[in-house]
Amino acid sequence: MGPILVIAETDRAELTDGARELIAKAREIGAAIGTQVAALAFGPGARAALGQVAVDEAIAVTGVAVEEYNPEAYEMTALDAVRERHPALVLLTNTTLGMDLGAGIAAALDLPMVAYAVAVGTGGGRLVATSQVYGGKLLAEVEVPEGSVVTIVPGSWAAQGIEGSPRKEVEIASAPAPRMVLQGILQPESGGDVDISRSDILVSVGRGIQDKDNIDLAEEFAQAVGGVVSCTRPVVDAGWLPRSRQVGKSGRTVKPKLYFALGISGAPEHLQGMKDAELIIAVNTDASAPIFEVATYGVTTDVLDLLPALTERLQAGGSN
Ligand code: FAD
Repeated sequence: MGPILVIAETDRAELTDGARELIAKAREIGAAIGTQVAALAFGPGARAALGQVAVDEAIAVTGVAVEEYNPEAYEMTALDAVRERHPALVLLTNTTLGMDLGAGIAAALDLPMVAYAVAVGTGGGRLVATSQVYGGKLLAEVEVPEGSVVTIVPGSWAAQGIEGSPRKEVEIASAPAPRMVLQGILQPESGGDVDISRSDILVSVGRGIQDKDNIDLAEEFAQAVGGVVSCTRPVVDAGWLPRSRQVGKSGRTVKPKLYFALGISGAPEHLQGMKDAELIIAVNTDASAPIFEVATYGVTTDVLDLLPALTERLQAGGSN
């Protein structure tokens, strides 16, 4: 049986949290079914990033063609790796890149693919994945035939016990030259400096914040608690905050220690991105809002009254 092949995303010379989670799972499944784990990463930081994890084979793809995401160059290289190794399973993160590349590999090699997976493991001698369907409203359990491509929603489990070094390192220094040429990368106009997935405290606002001007109330509160402001999709669609701050299905998946859900109803597409926060405090005028079903603590009140009062207390040092 071929190895479990993880296609690992990197951020400079580090693996992303999602990639680390894939390696942890690949090691677990590999041990259960008696096969090895290979990890493949692209870009100038690939070698350094893979050098920190205990896998059987680390494949670093470097060279100008893969310095940034080039779908064609990435896919051609990944296809070579898959054809050569006949992996038992190909794991990618369920990110824009992972879904694009995963679907490309599956289509080119006619392999089955499971996207939006939140669990994958062995059961009764079979490989089984649990996948979110209908925007996370339902979970489907599906059997994963050998050789399948599975994209996993980041944050679905913890990345534990992966530290170490690869038993074998391979460098592919010349990825095939693609016909597709990257013209440049457009950075978000503003807010791109904040990576909301890295903050321990998120002050997240929804449509209940009512108006763009009230975002300042959330910013002041976030500053007082040492957090960062994030939001729901309608807030982004209204142009009140940049897309980089959006939490949920079509935004970021976050797992902070503390998540304030302020004027957020708790739609499945939003919950998908934040339900695993360690502590959730929800504030909503509607006591029947679904957000209260996942909240650790809930307050039924007007967020526009509560926020300035809380900020004032915090700024006063909590002395009154
Ligand atoms: P609403 O649902 O309108 O809720 C506003 C809440 O504020 C209400 O519960 C109301 O009671 C409360 N409220 C009103 N005034 C106050 C006040 N003064 N004080 C306190 N509470 C108040 N959504 C996301 O968030 N992220 C995503 O990534 C995402 N992706 C999507 C992908 C797809 C394919 C689709 C179809 C939808 C997606 N959505 C996403 C949209 C999602 O379905 C919901 O529409 C959205 O999450 C609702 O945002 P909201 O809670 O801010 O607004």
